[in-house]
Amino acid sequence: MYFNDIKCHKNCAHYQNGFCRLNRIKLDPNGPICPRFTPKYKEIDSKSKYKKDTELKILEEKLDKIQKRIRHLKTKI
Ligand code: SF4
Repeated sequence: MYFNDIKCHKNCAHYQNGFCRLNRIKLDPNGPICPRFTPKYKEIDSKSKYKKDTELKILEEKLDKIQKRIRHLKTKI
């Protein structure tokens, strides 16, 4: 997955066509960022994707067990 780690105005989500839409000022696209920098792309490397997929699988298994338990309990009511 793509992640641009160069922190400059042009890689900020608020930058567009030489302007900062947030601060409403003209900028050098390669200039240093301000504290409100918001990356255009999320960092999703293969490790974190694998970790999320694994966590999702575990949660789905837990949910499945809970749903089975609920169905079982409903039959006893
Ligand atoms: S880093 Fe700051 S000044 Fe630059 S575009 Fe983003 S919000 Fe605007």
